[in-house]
Amino acid sequence: MVKVYLKRKIAPRIANGHPWIYGNEIEKTEGDIVAGEIVEVYFADKKLAGRGYINPQSQIAVRLLTRKQEEINEAFFLDRIKKAWQYRQKLGYTENCRLVFGEADYLPALIIDKFNDYFVIQTLSLGIEQWKPAIIKALETIFNPKGIYERNDVPVRELEGLPQQKGFLSAPFDTNIIINENGLKFNVNIENGQKTGYFLDQQDNRRAIQQVVKGASVLGAFTYTGTFEIHAAHYGAKYVLGIDISEQAVEQANKNAALNGLENICRFEAKNAFDALKQWDKEEKKYDVVMLDPPAFTKSRENIGKAITGYKEINLRGMKLIKNGGFLVTSSCTNLVSPDLFLQTIAAAAKDAKKKIRQVTFKAQSSDHPIIWGLENTNYLKFLIVEVSSI
Ligand code: SAH
Repeated sequence: MVKVYLKRKIAPRIANGHPWIYGNEIEKTEGDIVAGEIVEVYFADKKLAGRGYINPQSQIAVRLLTRKQEEINEAFFLDRIKKAWQYRQKLGYTENCRLVFGEADYLPALIIDKFNDYFVIQTLSLGIEQWKPAIIKALETIFNPKGIYERNDVPVRELEGLPQQKGFLSAPFDTNIIINENGLKFNVNIENGQKTGYFLDQQDNRRAIQQVVKGASVLGAFTYTGTFEIHAAHYGAKYVLGIDISEQAVEQANKNAALNGLENICRFEAKNAFDALKQWDKEEKKYDVVMLDPPAFTKSRENIGKAITGYKEINLRGMKLIKNGGFLVTSSCTNLVSPDLFLQTIAAAAKDAKKKIRQVTFKAQSSDHPIIWGLENTNYLKFLIVEVSSI
């Protein structure tokens, strides 16, 4: 097995549990490197750092899978996935959950979403791609799934020299499925939906709106499958309007409203949220509750300013549409914007909108996406409810 020796300077970070080793942190290697294969990593003082997979083409040269001198084989993956499942079962995420959340489940670059009997997987690095057969076998052993689908149509794979691809990893099945969440039903399109087809990370937060939507008029923007909005209707909102820029998302959301018998309370329209909110402010429209769940706005640290501008603008526009004493429900789904920075951005938006705000709830993603301190990409979702009043 190839041996990788680290430079002295980086040891504390990796010793503290961070599994990534950047190319410029490697002092020397011994043996012939084959991209994607398992290597053994040592600190500068020759103590074992662990075993992981290497890809010299990637900026993250090695991702550690274990801190021990154990064999990485099919049994290793079966054990890790079993442990990930035990954690979800303990916390009560049995029907639908993120079964494996990459680094947070000690399986770097692997994502597995469980939608009842169906599984959607993403292998986002060359090293984990090699173990796809072992991962599928583990799922078959533990769950006997009705279907497994690969959603590897993501640009990040190209940084690893991997092609973007999607398709069946089991016998073909109907990729339009219906899942239950909080007693409601939702259509999920595993093949063509966004990301893995559905955002499981907001499943706890959707319950958190119950306190503020009863009897309310609600505007939701960036609605995708319409889940927040349909929850609002279910929790007693008077009427709910949802908007999303994607026609396909709007069609799916309207279908979901009907699936739950809530189509008379909750309707969705295709609109650009930035334009629509501006227009409705001019027309002096007002809602009791405005809910915003925009996309990341940036994928890179260099563009973080652009993301902040986007978040500030949309939240400012949202706040202006809220009746005095109403509520803003707002999220951000990128780890590039830290929780502190997000709150500062909302505060800046309130100031410009000439509003006073009080925090009702501030949370992260649901607990089937655990957070590892020091591993910032695991702490990515911010979910905030504030009461909004005139100054
Ligand atoms: N609230 C959803 C997730 C939203 S994902 C849930 O709980 O599952 C973000 C959504 O924003 C996507 O559906 C995307 O189509 C939409 N979107 C992106 N830019 C937009 C814009 N300018 N106006 C309206 N919607 C937009």
